[in-house]
Amino acid sequence: MLDSNLFPYCDGTLHCEGVSLEKLAEEYGTPLFVTSRNSLINQYRAFEKAFAGLDHFTCYSVKANFNLHVIRTLSEEGCGCDVNSGGELFRALQAGVEPGKIIMAGVGKTASDIEYGVKSGIVMLKAESVSELRLVNDVAGRLGMKASVGIRVNPNVTAETHPYITTGDSKEKFGIDEADLDEVFDLLKTLEHVDLTGLDMHIGSQIFDANFYEAALEKLLDVLAAARSAGFDIRYFDIGGGFPVTYEPQKPATPIGHFAEKLIPLVEKTGTTILFEPGRFIVANSTVLLTKVLYRKQNHAGKEFVIVDAGMTELIRPALYQSYHEIVAVSQHNSVMVADIVGPVCESGDFFARERTVDRVKEGEMLAVLSAGAYGSVMSNNYNGRLRPAEVMVDGDNAKLIRKRDSFEQLIQNEVF
Ligand SMILES: *Cc1c(COP(=O)(O)O)cnc(C)c1O
Repeated sequence: MLDSNLFPYCDGTLHCEGVSLEKLAEEYGTPLFVTSRNSLINQYRAFEKAFAGLDHFTCYSVKANFNLHVIRTLSEEGCGCDVNSGGELFRALQAGVEPGKIIMAGVGKTASDIEYGVKSGIVMLKAESVSELRLVNDVAGRLGMKASVGIRVNPNVTAETHPYITTGDSKEKFGIDEADLDEVFDLLKTLEHVDLTGLDMHIGSQIFDANFYEAALEKLLDVLAAARSAGFDIRYFDIGGGFPVTYEPQKPATPIGHFAEKLIPLVEKTGTTILFEPGRFIVANSTVLLTKVLYRKQNHAGKEFVIVDAGMTELIRPALYQSYHEIVAVSQHNSVMVADIVGPVCESGDFFARERTVDRVKEGEMLAVLSAGAYGSVMSNNYNGRLRPAEVMVDGDNAKLIRKRDSFEQLIQNEVF
């Protein structure tokens, strides 16, 4: 849910902090992502407050929203970064994050991703296979360096969430199976350019039930004991991300304090620094996607369609994960209708909502798709020749363009013609 203090209706018009969304749409056009800077800060601080009693360090998962200003806002608060590729590492470094605050994930890191990470001096690369460990050793050896490595363990816990975002099940591609860890420890003793410094898990996203974390953590704690008795000095114990947010008022997310209560007692005596990798929790409710109603039409059965100028190319979550997003009119109405809110892309899956009760908006009016800050703009693309949207960040009464809308020229700039 959006924080209504940061996204209030003033004089019947939805605002982001002190700025009218009508005005932003006029100035920057639509579709437009609008992010509340103070929402980012509040969420990060809420997370830090929940885990304040624990020796920990939080690495924002850049993949949820990789805009440089988003990364920098969090970094200025003291937050680190979890990156998934060389490209995300580049973004984090460009945003000014120190390498000493960056960790790197990724089930398919290339030799160049690994080289970039090791050379940059990041805290830890999290390896997900025996072959990757060997490659890290080769790359670090070639550079004459020693790579700090964590092992991502697959705890074989199936967190209850959408099947596309459960990642801790042994049927999924992520991490190294517990059963293989003895072999991994033996191998690591022979790899001269790898220093095992951490253990890691990430069991999925939008996880409401802390029991899944507890079950996975118990396994990771066994691995910690095994690693220590094999002689490794484990300094980082990485619990991953996945902490939930509220998208639907009827399905409120478990408060972060509940996770803290359950998890802190399990890990506070490990003698390690606990790492967290929240993504969605920090950014999901910081941002709305503003979109204009292009057309309304009814089919012969009387079904109402609202065709808007944003679609799956801007926010793919409904199409990819059957996700629910609240949709509200930017100018308040006093009557409602039931309609499908659909985008302009040539796919039947291109919808934001089906059979939804929404404000009775007219053509030319503006809708706001809420909770669009996580896995929104980062997944936007140019399918159908669409221009990736502009992004604006609001801080109090000030709005700043933080990403320009794509141009037609950009659509073809990399083609050799
Ligand atoms: C995606 C991802 C995260 C962030 O997940 P959220 O659900 O957005 O918190 C953290 N760690 C890893 C390894 C990931 O792949």
